[in-house]
Amino acid sequence: MSKKTISLLLTGIIFLTSCGKPAYDKEPQNKSFFAMDTYMSITAYGKNAETALNQAEKKVSELENLWSVTKENSEIYKINHNNGENVSVSPETAELIDFSLEISEITGGALDCSIYPVLTEWGFTTNDYKIPTDEKLSELLEYTDYRKIRFDGENVQIPENMQIDLGAVGKGYTGDIVTEILKENGIESALLDLGGNIQTVGTKPDGTEWKIGLRSPFNEGSFATLEISDCAVITSGGYERYFTGDDGETYWHILDPKTGKPAHSGLISVTVIGSEGRLCDAFSTSLFVMGIEKATELWKKRDDFEMVLVTEDGKIYLTQGIENKFSLNQIYGNLHTEVIYR
Ligand code: ADP
Ligand code: MG
Repeated sequence: MSKKTISLLLTGIIFLTSCGKPAYDKEPQNKSFFAMDTYMSITAYGKNAETALNQAEKKVSELENLWSVTKENSEIYKINHNNGENVSVSPETAELIDFSLEISEITGGALDCSIYPVLTEWGFTTNDYKIPTDEKLSELLEYTDYRKIRFDGENVQIPENMQIDLGAVGKGYTGDIVTEILKENGIESALLDLGGNIQTVGTKPDGTEWKIGLRSPFNEGSFATLEISDCAVITSGGYERYFTGDDGETYWHILDPKTGKPAHSGLISVTVIGSEGRLCDAFSTSLFVMGIEKATELWKKRDDFEMVLVTEDGKIYLTQGIENKFSLNQIYGNLHTEVIYR
């Protein structure tokens, strides 16, 4: 479990309870479970909440069985162990691969699902950490290239020695699918915490916005609060999964596919806010790799996300669209905060 998840669970930085009087006649229903290597917790309000949550949990388990890199019956496992042969995949897996490849294109390869063997070499998949040699990294980087993935919309084929993992996008897409299930069941108010990925349906039942705490990269607790509704808030941070090498350096789990080493773009945390969970998830990982300038360039070109960036030297940058929804927590009031305008 990532440090972020533990912190979310322990410090309760999501303020689920409404501050005023209970304006809703129904108690919320909650379902918490372990899936996709993390804790998930979904809270929903409304008549069909219980049914909806049961359906949601079942769906998450089905998706995990499709996308797990370690379960031998998963579609991703089959793709990774098929000696360069074609594998036909379900529509959901096809959609996820298609989306992941699209974001790889948009981000100039900052997101690359074929980075998996390099992550394994660093020990990030097993927690048995080590610093790979430069020779080993360049050997593995020969097979790291999303452009070599053949995909026709139904069939996937990757070169021998390549392995893919859609972990950087999968939870966000799962959140979108769960959101859909909740809405189909008539749920108008819900909060999903999929291992620290926050997605909301509607507002809180009393009509006010959800208050989401943004985890501080430097300390326990949150440095800021966002008031939002009907959207996803997804963070990638260098503090989530890392180790300290014998050389005293910190090595974290977000890698730059160009070097095979932990991305050092100057950012320590990237939060992406938008209506699509999969987009926020994919961008939170890739903008972390790209750094503030390229992230800003991308933001200026699009209108489907906002972001909060924290630099390694403790400065905060947020985009115009969430300026009014963002408040710095009091004890962090002295941090340099700057709004990025279009
Ligand atoms: P988390 O899964 O911890 O919530 P992210 O969504 O940022 O965080 O995804 C990070 C995960 O994605 C890493 O644990 C690793 O498996 C994988 N990953 C790391 N760097 C990259 C990259 N450049 N492109 C694609 N996947 C990556
Ligand atoms: Mg991500």
